[in-house]
Amino acid sequence: MSYNVSNAGRKTFAVLGAVLSLGAPLGWLMIQWMAGVEPMTVIDNDPLLMVYLFVPTMIVFVVTGYLIGVQWEKLNAANRRLETLATRDGLTKLFNARRFWEDVDIECKRSRRDGHSLFVLLLDLDHFKRINDSYGHLVGDKVLSELAGLMSEQLRAGEQLYRVGGEEFAVLLTDLTRAEAEQVAQRLRRAVEDHRFTVCVNEDELTIEVTISVGLSGRQCETDSEYMELYAEADEALYAAKEGGRNTVVVY
Ligand code: GH3
Ligand code: MG
Ligand code: MG
Repeated sequence: MSYNVSNAGRKTFAVLGAVLSLGAPLGWLMIQWMAGVEPMTVIDNDPLLMVYLFVPTMIVFVVTGYLIGVQWEKLNAANRRLETLATRDGLTKLFNARRFWEDVDIECKRSRRDGHSLFVLLLDLDHFKRINDSYGHLVGDKVLSELAGLMSEQLRAGEQLYRVGGEEFAVLLTDLTRAEAEQVAQRLRRAVEDHRFTVCVNEDELTIEVTISVGLSGRQCETDSEYMELYAEADEALYAAKEGGRNTVVVY
C-alpha cells in the first residue's frame, strides 16, 4: 500500500513563517512608537534598518517554516500508515475485527437514536480447511483475498465488509428491512457459489469452487450495547447454517 505525501504542510508553514517574519520590523516600529517616534519617521530615517529587520527574518522564518512543514507531512503520513495498520487486515486489505467492533458500536448507538435498523451478517467459508490441506496455505490465502474482492464488488454504499477472523467475514447493514438484508446475504452467497477461483498448484492451473454460510440478525437497537446480542444471534444463525448443510443463509 502506498501513501501519498501531500506537500500542503510545507506550503502552509512557509506562509506562516512569512507572516511571522513581519513581527521583527513591526516590533521595532512599536518600540519606537512607545518611545514617542512616529512609525513613518522611523522608516524615513532608517529605511536600511527596516530592510535589515525584514529580509533576514523573513528568510529564516520561511526556511524554518518550510522545514517544520516537511517534518509535519512525514508525521502525518506515518499517522495515516499507523491508522491503516491498526484498522485493516494485511491479506485482504479489508477493515479488520477491531474496526468492526468500533463501527458496530457506533451504528448501534445511531440505530437507537435515529430509529433505523442495524443488521449483522456473519459469513464463514465452508470446509476451507480442505482447500489448505489439498492445495497449501498460499492457495488458501489467494482464495481469501480474491473472495474479499469479489464480495466487496457485491456491496453498495452503506454496506460495509470486514474480515473478522481467519476465514470469517462480517457485513454491517443499516437502514434496511429484514427482507432487504436477507437479499444482500443471498447475493453474497450466490456470487461466491458462482465464482470460479483460478489458482496455480505445482505450475498447473486449477479451478476451485468455494461456498459460504451466512448467519444474519438485526433490528432497531433499543440499548447502546445491543450489538453484542446481534452478533451472538448472527453467530447462532451461522452455526445453524453450517448444521443445515452449508452454502445457505439463516436468519435468526
Ligand atoms: P466449516 O465449514 O465448518 O467452517 O469448516 P472450515 O474448514 O472452514 O472450518 P475450520 O474452523 O475447521 O477451519 C478453518 C480453516 O481456515 C483452518 C485455518 O487453517 C484456515 N485459515 C484461517 N485463517 C487463514 C488464513 O489467513 N490463510 C489461510 N490460508 N487459511 C486460513
Ligand atoms: Mg469455515
Ligand atoms: Mg470459521
